[in-house]
Amino acid sequence: MRRWLFRLLSLVLVLFVVAFAGIWLLEFYPRHGSHPPLQLARGTLAIQHARIYVSPGDTPIEDGTVLVRDGLIAAVGTNVEVPSDATIVPCDHCVVTAGFWNAHVHFTEPKWSMANWKSAGTLATQLADMFLSHGFTTVIDLGSNPADTFSIRRRIEKGELSGPYIYTAGTALYPPHGAPFYLRETMPRWMVMLLPQPETPQEATSIVRRNLASGADITKLFTGSWVQRGHVLPMPVNIATAAVTESHLNGKLVFAHPSNLAGVQVAIDSGVDVLAHAADDTNGVDAALLSSAIRKNMAMIPTLKMFTTTVTTDPHYMDPICAEVQQFHQLGGTLLFGTDVGYMTDYTTEGEFVELGKSGLDWKTVLGMLTTNPAARMGVSSAKGTVTPGKLADLTILDADPATDLTNFSRVRSVVRSGKVVWQR
Ligand SMILES: [Zn+2]
Repeated sequence: MRRWLFRLLSLVLVLFVVAFAGIWLLEFYPRHGSHPPLQLARGTLAIQHARIYVSPGDTPIEDGTVLVRDGLIAAVGTNVEVPSDATIVPCDHCVVTAGFWNAHVHFTEPKWSMANWKSAGTLATQLADMFLSHGFTTVIDLGSNPADTFSIRRRIEKGELSGPYIYTAGTALYPPHGAPFYLRETMPRWMVMLLPQPETPQEATSIVRRNLASGADITKLFTGSWVQRGHVLPMPVNIATAAVTESHLNGKLVFAHPSNLAGVQVAIDSGVDVLAHAADDTNGVDAALLSSAIRKNMAMIPTLKMFTTTVTTDPHYMDPICAEVQQFHQLGGTLLFGTDVGYMTDYTTEGEFVELGKSGLDWKTVLGMLTTNPAARMGVSSAKGTVTPGKLADLTILDADPATDLTNFSRVRSVVRSGKVVWQR
């Protein structure tokens, strides 16, 4: 009798250990996320006979050459000598810009889950589809399962697969009992309960501290959360302030999802650095409010195409949102490009450029949103953002000139990242 009991207890113990090891291996082992060192591709590349947009402010170089050596831009101009061993990247009157940034993405679709254990081929195809084929060499993940994001970026930086450079917010923070309805409708209940919804400033501080310690690069707050259709719950300002203070103490920026006037106000009052969307409920979002955001050096990612997919019968639904973006720009606010892909399953960028055009933005402004503005905001202007010798060879090569039509920013021909051709059509 005793022997049976002993065997039963042993079996339970073994099962417990196996289950624990399984959970640890799948969920917690991948959650160590510091950036692996950047690998620069060896060798020489040349792009010839190109129109080169060095930066939004520089006069374009006509019929120029970009020479890349060992991962860095070596020379740019009309009189660049190309060594005989250089690999020629096909151009044929292409347009070359600095590598694009997408400052609002997620790795939340089911296809990214268990990323640590997926084949490199599968992940590489998905990364090309979502980012590289649209010209993105750097992306900012504004909230996903860190186990997946950290695994993807580790495998990219180890050279196992091609993909963009990834910054991540780790897990986003929500108001108390403030998970958005669209997450509650798509996620299992237990998973929604695990979303960080701090109820005190102390709790917010420790969540942010833990998130950053595990490898997150920024903090993401829902300062206004659509808890029901037609109802936004703002984050209490003392909780938002605690999260922002802890992030800034660690030298990290804070991005916020505002949704409406109250959400923008909490972002302003707590010291948030970037609005992750324009406010889609524009009621009361006026010049005075936008000016006070700009005075606090807050940038904005419009994500207009995402709003166009919102189910509504009103053909003029986008007008006030575009007007808000236009006003923010005219008042001197900094805009960053972002499309919320991952939440959006349509990855094409053309629609975003159409909406930015409707918001009265010209091609130089949009080029800045794609390159110099995000590089400056993330503090890496010395390495990224312009086609300048000495900087990283992150380049987006277009088939057509965006100066004549904004949607030509979506006509990507090939992409170079850290000196390697990572995507060609
Ligand atoms: Zn998002």
